[in-house]
Amino acid sequence: MRMRVLVLGGTTEAATLAGLLAHREDIDTMLSLAGRTSAPVRPPVPYRIGGFGGVAGLVAFLRDNAIDALVDATHPFATQMSAHAVQACRESGTPLLVLGRPAWQAGAGDCWTEVANAAEAARALGTEPRTVFLTVGRLSLPAFVAAPQHRYVVRSIDRPEGLDALPSHRLVLARGPFDLAAERALMREEEVDVVVTKNSGGAATGAKLAAARELGLPVVVIRRPAASGAPEVHDPQAALAWLDTLLGAHRAPP
Ligand code: NAP
Repeated sequence: MRMRVLVLGGTTEAATLAGLLAHREDIDTMLSLAGRTSAPVRPPVPYRIGGFGGVAGLVAFLRDNAIDALVDATHPFATQMSAHAVQACRESGTPLLVLGRPAWQAGAGDCWTEVANAAEAARALGTEPRTVFLTVGRLSLPAFVAAPQHRYVVRSIDRPEGLDALPSHRLVLARGPFDLAAERALMREEEVDVVVTKNSGGAATGAKLAAARELGLPVVVIRRPAASGAPEVHDPQAALAWLDTLLGAHRAPP
């Protein structure tokens, strides 16, 4: 008997898991993307794009598509989607696993200021004009309009709306992963004074922290929101093992 799995994506980890599941004949996988990027990388499994319509919409989707298990592999800052997944799985009795990432930790040589949100990050930059490497995602940019004295080097997958509200900026359109040499070169070329990032965790975008450490640059780090509370693994292979265990139970006669 085949098992039907829904993966909530938008991350490198979700794409890796989808790649692993694409080869499985005993598991039908559907990847779900929010639709935030204009040209997402084409997944190796069937996919859908767009919100479900809240918890009720997700419950209906799980039921209508006879989903046997849900893997929440969204970004650690996608808290609404993760909370909806917990509630919808509770209501529908669907097994749920989070495929997440450990938070980045400051180490020797790091100079981090940790803040609660983008507005605090903008304040933490101080009053003196600085060149700021802003890698917070386009939805968090409006907070930095409150600190117009800085020059912002904004990196984003798509051109952010409202970018011109930052009087001095340069846009770098790019999609990760990013390596250390390229991050170091970009920070040097742009004469970056300070880096701002979410504590996203993971390898794909972690090189900017190593580059900042090497160059002796301070980093303003937006802390992680609380996790959803669902069981969590940090490795796509571990998510696959969880699905295999469920598959065993799924196949066993009642
Ligand atoms: P969010 O605030 O937690 O979610 C807002 C709404 O977007 C959800 O209630 C849901 O709409 C819809 N949604 C989110 N993820 C979805 C998915 N994978 N499939 C279908 N619908 C989804 O999410 P967000 O922070 O805007 O993140 C959106 C997407 O970008 C996620 O897939 C996330 O993995 C990815 N991402 C986010 C960040 C970040 O910093 N937040 C960074 C990189 C990638 P309904 O209520 O209508 O179902």
